[in-house]
Amino acid sequence: MPIDPDFQKKLKPTGEHQGHKVWGETSPPKKLSVHGTNVAVDHDVCNGDEICVSVCPVSVFQMVDTPGHPTSPKKSDPVNESACIQCLACEIQCPTKAIKITPP
Ligand code: SF4
Repeated sequence: MPIDPDFQKKLKPTGEHQGHKVWGETSPPKKLSVHGTNVAVDHDVCNGDEICVSVCPVSVFQMVDTPGHPTSPKKSDPVNESACIQCLACEIQCPTKAIKITPP
C-alpha cells in the first residue's frame, strides 16, 4: 500500500528523528510510520532500494538501518528535507510509492 497522501491530516507528529518529524504511532522494529513532512517517506512502505538516493539532485536522503522490519532492513530517511526543490523525481520513481512531496 502506498504512502497516504493525506497523512498530515490523518496522523499526528509523534517524534523527531535526524531533524525531521515522525508522523503516526510507531512500534519498532516492525512499525516505523512516516518520516519527514514536505519530503515524507513511509518507512513501512519503503523497500530500501535507494532509487530516491540515486535520483535526488540535492542529496535529501540518507539510508538508515532498520533491522527487524518486515519490509526491508534499511530505509531512506529525508535527513535534508529543507533542501528539496520539488522536482518530484523521487516520488515518481519510487517503485513502492513510499514518498509524498508536499510544497512547504
Ligand atoms: S522531489 Fe526532487 S529534490 Fe525533492 S527529495 Fe525528491 S528527488 Fe530530491
